[in-house]
Amino acid sequence: MDHRPALAATDPELAALITREEARQFYTAKLIPSENYASSAVLQATGTVLTNKYSEGYARKRYYEGQQVIDEIEELAIARAKSLFGADHANVQPYSGSPANLAVYCGLIAKGAENQRLLGLGLPAGGHLTHGWKVSITSRFFTAEQYGVDPKTHLMDFGAIAQKAREFKPAVIVCGATAYPRVIEFAKFAEIAQEVGALLVADMAHIAGLVAGGAHPSPVPYADAVTTTTHKTLRGPRGGMILCRSQHAAAIDKAVFPGLQGGPHNHTTAGIAVALHEAATPAFSAYAHQIVANSRALAEALLHEGLTLVTGGTDNHLILFDATGLSATGKQAAKAMDAAGLEANFNSIPFDPRSPFDPSGVRIGTPSLTSRGLTEAHMAHVGRWIAGAIRGREEPATLRRIAGEVQDLMAQFPPPGFEAPYPPRPAISME
Ligand SMILES: *Cc1c(COP(=O)(O)O)cnc(C)c1O
Repeated sequence: MDHRPALAATDPELAALITREEARQFYTAKLIPSENYASSAVLQATGTVLTNKYSEGYARKRYYEGQQVIDEIEELAIARAKSLFGADHANVQPYSGSPANLAVYCGLIAKGAENQRLLGLGLPAGGHLTHGWKVSITSRFFTAEQYGVDPKTHLMDFGAIAQKAREFKPAVIVCGATAYPRVIEFAKFAEIAQEVGALLVADMAHIAGLVAGGAHPSPVPYADAVTTTTHKTLRGPRGGMILCRSQHAAAIDKAVFPGLQGGPHNHTTAGIAVALHEAATPAFSAYAHQIVANSRALAEALLHEGLTLVTGGTDNHLILFDATGLSATGKQAAKAMDAAGLEANFNSIPFDPRSPFDPSGVRIGTPSLTSRGLTEAHMAHVGRWIAGAIRGREEPATLRRIAGEVQDLMAQFPPPGFEAPYPPRPAISME
């Protein structure tokens, strides 16, 4: 019954590991907001002979022959990206979100320019490493400074951001986040960028699927360049993408190749093309809106359990809660949830008094459960399970009971990308 006979025959050891991971993914409730399940169509496009081809350069201007088909694939992906997001230009070659960001900064900030300053949201406030955080290479190549969120509301404070931009005078302002549960007001960032003469980069990695489906405002009309991953809410293969205004197209393309990368991953480009095709459907728009509805319902359920949520709730796909309200650290809470079949990650909350290695918060989200077809009514269960696992973190029987209930529900909602026969249910072990 092995559905990968060649792999099983050639490398049974590796095949067995993949089979185990399939069962794990199938029977756990994935609450990590940056993850999703690529469809069977996306997986099939990705696992093809396109991986065999070198195509350095861009369509019709390659450094290798034999690009008759590859050019058409890349052009199809680009046309779909431009059409879905209403962008002037698209580059689908970045290997992932982080290299896409570095390429955009390199493209927009001229070599030897006097002003090489980058202003982004700080990591503790929900920004990404690549927005100029101190351990990221982006803070070595550029002089980086960070804005934060309001100490009381934990919302973006545009007065303070504008003040910082006036003082720092960045060449580029980056907006976008990895742990911010509210709508990002791109128009306000554009106003600030215009006032201080900076270019605006919007990183929509987390929310690209919401933007595609109309469940979050689009940054495209406001930003000089927009970067994204393709594997989060957009539900494609692991990859990156850049959208930009025509006047920046040549510089950004050059920064991606030959600036930072070699040959594009053509099998990934094909998977991205499929994902963009799927994201342009009414079903995907319904999906994007359901992600937000589920996220709101889950926030309600957690508030009902007495948990404190950063900003008090959510407008998007993710929720950041303070586990210390249940006398647990973020790490203890995330480990207890994992033992109960609820996959999440510990995360700093704004102005966290604890260290980033064991912070106060846990970050969760609904893109994956929504891909499986769960709706608001299920979120009440999920909220109870989360709180139950954290409260019962010293009680193996409680964690085992919840893990069993999670498996029961997951068995009824197979994720995209999994086809019958489904993996057998793994035993719940408690080491
Ligand atoms: C995930 C993420 C990235 C980086 O993506 P990788 O594919 O992990 O390199 C960049 N920016 C934001 C806001 C993200 O959430």
